[in-house]
Amino acid sequence: MAERFEAALSLQEAAALKTADSAFLAGGTEINRLGSLVSPSVLISIRKIKELKKLEITDGQVFIGAGCTFQEILENEAVPEYIREACRFMGSRTKRNMATIGGNISLCRDDSYLLPTLLAAGGMLSLMKEDGTTEEISLEDYVSGRQEYENRLILSVTVPGVFPFAGSVRHANTVESNARLTLSLCIRDGKYRAAAGIKKAGLFVFPDLSEKLEMDPSLSEAELIAWAKERELPISDDKIFGSAEYIRYLLGASFARLLRDYGKGGRT
Ligand SMILES: Cc1cc2nc3c(=O)[nH]c(=O)nc-3n(C[C@H](O)[C@H](O)[C@H](O)COP(=O)(O)OP(=O)(O)OC[C@H]3O[C@@H](n4cnc5c(N)ncnc54)[C@H](O)[C@@H]3O)c2cc1C
Repeated sequence: MAERFEAALSLQEAAALKTADSAFLAGGTEINRLGSLVSPSVLISIRKIKELKKLEITDGQVFIGAGCTFQEILENEAVPEYIREACRFMGSRTKRNMATIGGNISLCRDDSYLLPTLLAAGGMLSLMKEDGTTEEISLEDYVSGRQEYENRLILSVTVPGVFPFAGSVRHANTVESNARLTLSLCIRDGKYRAAAGIKKAGLFVFPDLSEKLEMDPSLSEAELIAWAKERELPISDDKIFGSAEYIRYLLGASFARLLRDYGKGGRT
């Protein structure tokens, strides 16, 4: 339980208040969860900061303020379907009404609902440092350098709006269970970007798979499963999530499924 509560009224105030011992209170779905990954001494509410609620689609770019909830994104029909599809991975509407995209990104969970999709789409983040200056970094750099960015306020995520194909798949025992595997593929101008979140292994972008697909877009399901079986990934057997071999099979077979959807002109 936090010892102190502060309500920030501006971005600069929120960024300046952040220390290693505090957390931003956005939707509160993780902070207030029993067994939460976050247990700060100080909570800095960012709920009243209007700038974090901006959601705009211009020149093919989707700009989503960090304070937008999953439900707000889902209900906005101008948001490309592949992003709304990933928001639906959070099955509980009550949770979707509260949980924000900024909170989801900040947690960098390996079973994240949204990160594989945003990584495959080549998402860019805008962050604010403690001194009020801002910086733009790729989501991929944020995920790989998370400790360096831990205390920064996420202002927004921007993704290129429209892909001829973009789709994601989530594997879990039930819609409300933790995902064992979530993966996403975005295709544009002959370029492929693939990403996945694998439970107990981490979040990954696969430039090697992009290269393979760019050389031979007609890779078969068997070839994709062989790629997943050979690729270096720290996956281990787990009683709940399944054997490492099964997860590798799912990874290859699910990318094959997305490629079949692309071949049929489906999803975007
Ligand atoms: C039962 C249950 C199951 C869940 N299962 C999953 C799951 O399978 N996958 C998953 O991804 N999540 C899961 N969650 C966690 C959570 O619902 C989502 O990740 C949600 O998007 C977090 O957003 P929030 O706004 O509620 O974050 P909060 O709880 O308000 O904050 C969480 C963290 O994000 C940081 N943060 C919030 N906003 C910002 C910002 N703008 N800039 C920088 N840091 C920020 C906070 O400092 C804090 O450390 C689950 C939660 C519950 C209650």
